[in-house]
Amino acid sequence: MIKFLDLQRINAQYKEELQNAFNRVIDSGWYILGEEVKRFEEEFADYCGVEHCVGVANGLDALILIFRAYKELGMMQDGDEIIVPANTYIASVLAISANNLVPVLVEPTLDFYNIDPALITAHITPRTKGILAVHLYGQLADLSAISIIAQQHGLKIIEDAAQAHGASKEGNKAGSLGDAAGFSFYPGKNLGAIGDGGAVTTNDNLLAKTIRALANYGSEIKYQNEYQGVNSRLDELQAALLAVKLKYLEKEIERRRAIANQFINGIKNPHVSLPKVKDQNSHVWHVFVVRVKERERFQSYLTANNIQTIIHYPIPPHQQKAYQHLNHLSLPVTEKIHKEIISLPISAVLADKDVEKIIAVINSYAE
Ligand SMILES: *Cc1c(COP(=O)(O)O)cnc(C)c1O
Repeated sequence: MIKFLDLQRINAQYKEELQNAFNRVIDSGWYILGEEVKRFEEEFADYCGVEHCVGVANGLDALILIFRAYKELGMMQDGDEIIVPANTYIASVLAISANNLVPVLVEPTLDFYNIDPALITAHITPRTKGILAVHLYGQLADLSAISIIAQQHGLKIIEDAAQAHGASKEGNKAGSLGDAAGFSFYPGKNLGAIGDGGAVTTNDNLLAKTIRALANYGSEIKYQNEYQGVNSRLDELQAALLAVKLKYLEKEIERRRAIANQFINGIKNPHVSLPKVKDQNSHVWHVFVVRVKERERFQSYLTANNIQTIIHYPIPPHQQKAYQHLNHLSLPVTEKIHKEIISLPISAVLADKDVEKIIAVINSYAE
């Protein structure tokens, strides 16, 4: 079986260094908010090209805390609206509704699977306060177009960069393209921990300071609480492991790009729609998504040929039970995407011969 994502092999590449980092943390006797987190935060801020990185417990918390901080700072209030692509992963929407803000779902383009900038303005009301720009599948959302709209209407741009570590436009990386960004270090993400982890990046001093306090019980000075905060911290162990993996992120992205190019040049089947790319640097191929009309049949065919695939994602947020009040919405582009998409295996440890096999098997698929 060609696995969709072989996490064991991905981490085995760096086993010795990871083991050393692990031992260093155990031996230090210091496990929460210490030197490892400080160092990783500095390195990841440098990598993204921003002033601040705040480590948190996971990617969802990173996004929740950004909105929470804007509320504490008086820049957003209960009932304010946040524009978000309708075809995103549920976590983007959860981060908005968890803060008593209102997610306003906007259709993506069928070409890039990211929010369609041409549709944003029509969704802006006096209560709109921000745009959650999701870099879905690892490709940057159209921040040039989004920034113009945000500027015209005085909106914050929050990046959901959970799938896009290292994606860049004209040298500027995901995490530095808006007012604040949330990252996930879930094991399967392009920069994955050996457990949960997340981070906020921003150039906004006050926002960073507020998030740091909110994530630590609402406290900046021990036992003095300014906010009714939460406990959401990146721990020393995950930070130490992530610092090891950060060194190899660029190399892993290069390998993903090479595989994606092999797929794009090699797959020639009229039943299979390939992903479109704005420019090489703007995509880090967190997942390689194709569209097929008879998706279930295609997936069974690949499984029968020992190729494991996953659907990202089978049910859009507005059709989830958790968002019953959105179930009436008609979002045809999103619905079409969710019916037809399927993700092929892609990762830094996928062998050339496996890539070739996947291409050959897909080219032999007939409907
Ligand atoms: C993974 C993911 C998240 C949430 O990250 P977790 O670390 O799993 O909480 C948020 N948004 C997107 C687009 C994601 O892919």
